[in-house]
Amino acid sequence: MVSRVTRPTVPFFSQATTFEKLWPVIRSEVDKIFDNGKFSHSARVESLENALAAYTGARHVIGVNSGTDALVLLLRACGLRPGDRVLVPAYSFVATASSVVLAGGEPVFADIDPETYALDPARVPAGALEGTRFVMPVHLFSRMADMAALTAFAAAHGLQVVEDSAEGIGMRQDGVHAGLHGRGGVLSFFPSKTLGALGDAGAVLTDDPDLAGRVAALRHHGRTGRTLGHFPGIANESVHAGHNSKMDDLQAAVLLAKLTVLDEDIRRRAELAARYARRLAEVPGVTRLPRPSGAPDEVFYVYLVETDHRDALAAHLLGQGIETEVYYPRPLPFQPCFASLGHRPGDFPVAEAAAGRALALPLHADLTESQVDRVCDAVAAFLTRKVPA
Ligand SMILES: *Cc1c(COP(=O)(O)O)cnc(C)c1O
Repeated sequence: MVSRVTRPTVPFFSQATTFEKLWPVIRSEVDKIFDNGKFSHSARVESLENALAAYTGARHVIGVNSGTDALVLLLRACGLRPGDRVLVPAYSFVATASSVVLAGGEPVFADIDPETYALDPARVPAGALEGTRFVMPVHLFSRMADMAALTAFAAAHGLQVVEDSAEGIGMRQDGVHAGLHGRGGVLSFFPSKTLGALGDAGAVLTDDPDLAGRVAALRHHGRTGRTLGHFPGIANESVHAGHNSKMDDLQAAVLLAKLTVLDEDIRRRAELAARYARRLAEVPGVTRLPRPSGAPDEVFYVYLVETDHRDALAAHLLGQGIETEVYYPRPLPFQPCFASLGHRPGDFPVAEAAAGRALALPLHADLTESQVDRVCDAVAAFLTRKVPA
């Protein structure tokens, strides 16, 4: 995050108002947790799983400790074997590709569609499909990948579809929630996500009961059954070499409370996104701008614009007390941890252009209309000077 020492006048992210509103509920749940001493993986986690299943329409939701571990467990539960290749987009959060490595596979990168920022089947490089058994579309910011095209592509090449829907809570395509278009998907509840906890947490979504059972075992030392609680029986039988990826009860309590205001939060984000779109439409030099569709369930996790003057604009805004963030400054193939794959500048032109030009503006339920106007005025003042009409 582009941040500074003094308190910004427009913070990139804040959820103080939401927490103030929900605090009495959260506080009383936290008191209960202290009273009964079950801090991890208890019936409260199961309540959250049920509430998320109702919200998303997933048959099975398995709560875990982060979105990243959710991806690792999902890939393992889908039968990823050591050395299997997984097709991933070149532009995403690093966990999209690092989870593949952590599960024992190898990421293969493809360029993105400039409209959705998601993996584009038309840009999959020749030879990328050899040894590839999975494709992992990612839904970024406010748009889902074109899942009809991706599922058709996967079927044509015998690939399993596993969705990195970490940013996707509330997003639906053809009435189906993100994460449920293939074998399964994930949610991240990292604090800055649309549904954020007070620390790390995540979940796996799937309609497949066998897959759900394997994920549930893998999160808890490979133990079978969905037994929750501190002392899940005396059997203690580990059928897989599992992980310790259980969800904390404190996070489940926070998420259960925040889930009650999620739709309200999503509506508020859409209103603010519409205001940005109206105010920035005529500003020269803003070359890409998400225009809300007006669909009632459209979810703006992040409001991302593109400009050739990204870094200078971010610095200018910061000088005015306006925090912004760059999602994602470096295409994944150019992260040092993937250097051995030998990719070179020019291999992923769309991802590289986005990485150099995209800037996320503040968007959260605490933001006011006048703060959005302040951001838009500052963007307009700067770019009008940079880009004479
Ligand atoms: C946040 C995020 C993740 C990782 O989730 P964590 O809960 O932070 O581990 C993975 N992929 C994408 C696209 C994300 O935005």
